[in-house]
Formats: sequence, C-alpha cells, structure tokens
Amino acid sequence: MLHGSSAHVERPERLRAIEAALSASPLKAQLSFLDARPATDAEIERVHPPGYARGLDDFCLNGGGWIDSDTLLSPQSSRVARLASGGACRAVEAVVGEGVPWVFSVCRPPGHHATPNTSMGFCLINNAAVAARHAQAALGLKRVLIVDWDVHHGNGTQDVFFDDPSVLYFSVHQSPLYPGTGRVRERGASGTTLNVPLPAGMGDGEYAFVFDDVLRPAVREFAPELIIVSAGFDAHERDPLGGMRVSTEGFARLAEQVRVMSEETPAKGRLVAVLEGGYDLQGLSEAVVAVMDRWHVGVVERAPVDGQTVSAATRKVTQALHELGVPRFSP
Ligand SMILES: [Zn+2]
Repeated sequence: MLHGSSAHVERPERLRAIEAALSASPLKAQLSFLDARPATDAEIERVHPPGYARGLDDFCLNGGGWIDSDTLLSPQSSRVARLASGGACRAVEAVVGEGVPWVFSVCRPPGHHATPNTSMGFCLINNAAVAARHAQAALGLKRVLIVDWDVHHGNGTQDVFFDDPSVLYFSVHQSPLYPGTGRVRERGASGTTLNVPLPAGMGDGEYAFVFDDVLRPAVREFAPELIIVSAGFDAHERDPLGGMRVSTEGFARLAEQVRVMSEETPAKGRLVAVLEGGYDLQGLSEAVVAVMDRWHVGVVERAPVDGQTVSAATRKVTQALHELGVPRFSP
C-alpha cells in the first residue's frame, strides 16, 4: 500500500478493497496468512540483469516519480516491489516445500509487463517469472506452467521464457489492446508459448471454452509440476480498462478449471496465484475472494463447454491454434 499513488489507476486502494472483501467473507476465518519477504538480488537476477533492482532503489532514493510513461513510483516503491516478487517466491516455497495446497499472493505492483530489461505497464519486477525461476533454481522443479488470464498480454513474461522449453506460458487476452503483443503465431522456439488473443466483448463461456479446448490439452502434454496464475481481473465486466465481460462467477470457474488441471498433472494440486491487474474495486475484490473460495473448497469437475455455443470469433482463434498443432514437449 506504500507503492504508487491514489491518483493512479493501479492504486493502493486495490489492496484495501481486497482486504475488506475478505474480511466480510466467512472464508477469511478458514485461511492462514503468510508474510511476504523481500526477494534477494540473486532471486530477482534470475529474470532481470545484474543491478536491476538496485537501479529501482536508486530511482526511489531520489524521490520516485514516473519511471516510464505508465508507471509511477513513490519513495517506497522499490522496497514494495521486492516484497511483491519475494512474496511470490514465499508462496512457491509454501506449496512446493511445506504442503500448503495453494497460496494467493495479493501483491502490488503487478509484474507481467516487466521485461527482463525494463519496467512498463505499471510493472517493475516480473513477480510470476521470478517465482517460476525460484521453483526451478531453489526448489528443484523442472516444468512450470504460467496461466495469465489478465485482460492484457503478459509481454514481459513471454519475453523471459520465449525460448525456454521448461516453462509453458499461456495467455488469454483482449486484442487489439495494450501492449499489442500476444498473437497466435508467437510460439517461441520450443512451442512453449500459447497466446489466445480474443476480440473485446467475450465473456464467461468463451473463457471457459478456451481453457477446455486449448489450455487443458497443452497442459496434459506439458505435465507441469507447479501452476502459477498471473491473476489479473481487468477482464471483469465492471473493469474500466478492459472490454471483456467475465463475471465474478466466470473467474471462479476459471479457478476451478485450473485446479482440475493441477490435480491431473504432476503439479498434484500445487497452485500459486500472483495478483496482476484489475481496476474496478468491487469487481476486483469480489473476484479475488471467489478464486480463493473455489481453491479452498475444492471442486467437482463440470461438463466441458459446448464449442457451438461460444462466439464465432473465439472459435476462429482456437481453430487457428489447433491448425498450428498442440505442441509436443520432450520430457
Ligand atoms: Zn492488465
């Protein structure tokens, strides 16, 4: 809450709203809470170049301000960004090493636009990427899946893992929209990037269909040992930045689908969510609690979505992906 400013759309009130929604829910009494810790330079430098976080520290020591055209830093922002990426690492440690089934890291600033070399799009350190690398380098996992359902394409995460066969990066996002990347044909050298760009106006049925039709077969083939969700909520129907129509229940269903995938792969139910975007305080906070609730309660698998009931525009994109072929991953 010490990062940025209330005048910016990516504002401290986002976390206050989530905290309030959780406090109003009977779920809160059933959860345990972990403290975030700052990521070390070595952890951050598995994704970013040497000295990257020190550069953020220096910028903040000079008072902060606009570090790029979108991203506003307060004097405490680099410390908060280290906590956001370290919190994601802490979440991975809990699910991989401590028998905790799932952790939702409710963090700011978000991370998925941060490329190895630069901040952008409200993001400083790529939290999901640092967490995935931590799972591999410190905790010995081989294959990690990142599911990015933020309404924007996670160009930074794609850049980090584009030629890396050990991390499958899946993104469903609105297109055209910022940052302009994330086309179907962007697949990486190893085929372990999967982009599903959808036109504005898509809702619960389209998202659930994409998860069944594109993500699930790829995940079965890839056999991840951990699933990290880049959990943005700006595809929510109430969101002022996105143009999608996903409801709170729609996000809960996506959480169910990811949970089922985690249980039918070597991930064995291990799930970490890292907060990304989501700018309507009510939509954001309700959907975050709904995702936590679905992961806490556990789910019975529902019937697959009938592809004939989803929009032709969505089927055109999934058809194009199928024509490129479901990637084959060597073990
Ligand atoms: Zn976003």
